[in-house]
Amino acid sequence: MGHYSKAQCHDCGEVYEEHIGGSFTSQGLKCDKCGKTMEIHCHDIPELSIQLLGYEDYCAVARILPDKNSRDRKKLKRISLEEFNRGVEEFAGKCDCGGKYTFDAPPRCPKCCSTNIKEVGSKLFYD
Ligand SMILES: [Zn+2]
Ligand SMILES: [Zn+2]
Repeated sequence: MGHYSKAQCHDCGEVYEEHIGGSFTSQGLKCDKCGKTMEIHCHDIPELSIQLLGYEDYCAVARILPDKNSRDRKKLKRISLEEFNRGVEEFAGKCDCGGKYTFDAPPRCPKCCSTNIKEVGSKLFYD
């Protein structure tokens, strides 16, 4: 579960909605240089998702029917969330600006790319 939070840029005064946290079905990454966001869905990274969740849980999350004969069932080398995140970052690759998509990028103003941001307003929960 994630939420939206209103944030304001100290440098240019822009007020925008910041998307915080991810959900089970998609991963939100950000460029560490320009702050551009990228969503990666669990359908895009089935092998990593299966290694993190296990095959049955992956099928439930991805809303697909488990295939009893799938070879993916046997690939149950479990990985930690940290390994999963690293794999997702690798999958996401590089941004057009030369930066790297990562889970650890600081929030940035969408207008001037400043990291001088404060949260304002209430949170709107979703998912
Ligand atoms: Zn700004
Ligand atoms: Zn970038």
